[in-house]
Amino acid sequence: MIINNNTPIFVTQPTLPSLDEFVKSLEEIWESKWLTNNGKFHQELESELCKYLGVKYCSLFSNGTLALIVGLQSLRITGEVITTPYSFVATTHSLHWNGIKPVFCDINEHDFNINPNKIEALITPQTTAILPVHVYGNPCNFEKIGKIADTYGLKVLYDAAHAFGVNINGQSILNNGDMSILSFHATKVFSTIEGGAIITNDKKLKERIDYLKNFGFADEVTVVAPGINAKMNEVQAAFGLLHLKNIESEILKRKAIAITYRNQLENINGIKTYNDFEGVKHNYSYFPVLIQKDFHKTRNEVYQLLKEHNIFSRRYFYPLISQFPTYKELPSSSSNNLPIAEKITEEILCLPIYGDLKPEQVDKIVQLIIK
Ligand SMILES: *Cc1c(COP(=O)(O)O)cnc(C)c1O
Repeated sequence: MIINNNTPIFVTQPTLPSLDEFVKSLEEIWESKWLTNNGKFHQELESELCKYLGVKYCSLFSNGTLALIVGLQSLRITGEVITTPYSFVATTHSLHWNGIKPVFCDINEHDFNINPNKIEALITPQTTAILPVHVYGNPCNFEKIGKIADTYGLKVLYDAAHAFGVNINGQSILNNGDMSILSFHATKVFSTIEGGAIITNDKKLKERIDYLKNFGFADEVTVVAPGINAKMNEVQAAFGLLHLKNIESEILKRKAIAITYRNQLENINGIKTYNDFEGVKHNYSYFPVLIQKDFHKTRNEVYQLLKEHNIFSRRYFYPLISQFPTYKELPSSSSNNLPIAEKITEEILCLPIYGDLKPEQVDKIVQLIIK
């Protein structure tokens, strides 16, 4: 592809696997005529993901939202769930689709994640679980969240849609809590076009999840629960297997871009950048900055200016989930409950980051922002 001044720059762009290799996989699928329902590619992707991620069990899904919805069903979560308003809407929608009342908890300024020190005050007799999000792949505070869950007998489901491949001291962060939910949407760092997964280390739970994603069928004639259809098909799985081959090099390329951005932006007054956390292997799925009051342009002006130059940054997450009509009447949506989330949502801007982004393009983005 020829890159010129008018080539649009999106906030992210998938690095596609080789078309020739994908065609070879498709030929194999055509040959076998096995298109979905736990076929060869599906089985292989589940086992390859377990290896790559360093986890015990993986159940593939047609998308991340259905994985969240089924995950909550599989643990029989009811009543109220404490979650974060600073996420993609699907996090809270998955509660709504289960008839569960979301209770929003404020976030930290340093990692954008749920503030564990504010969880306990929100627990009621109806609370059954906590649904935190590893925002931008930043690991949540597992120790504190786990301790609260143990004390009050709550389940913990991590929305790990941003956290593919993130490790702390060599250990996958996906092994925390009762389960972690991944999204493989085309905008995520690892993709199956549309797709998702649930990670658990409980064999029985994995079994139940697999029934639920296939209408509740345990065998040909036994339906054990009112399941749904949330299966990943063979074409998605074949795409994922090829994508997985490139993931390490993609993450390394993104890391270089993140460093370039930081070097140019970290000393600019009114712009806040974030360094890597100690001991954490990040996936650089996003490059968040805060455009604060003392900068000479507002966050929205920066967003607009970039857009006029065909550069599509993203106010991610803006608005907060608690500000959408469906949820804004909830007691926990009130501003005095969510001061940090309401501040961050006005300042956040995610800048373009993907393996094929050129250093000149990064320079151009930085120059437009700071001049
Ligand atoms: C992408 C995303 C989802 C939804 O995943 P889909 O695969 O698009 O359904 C859920 N939660 C978060 C935090 C996400 O970023």
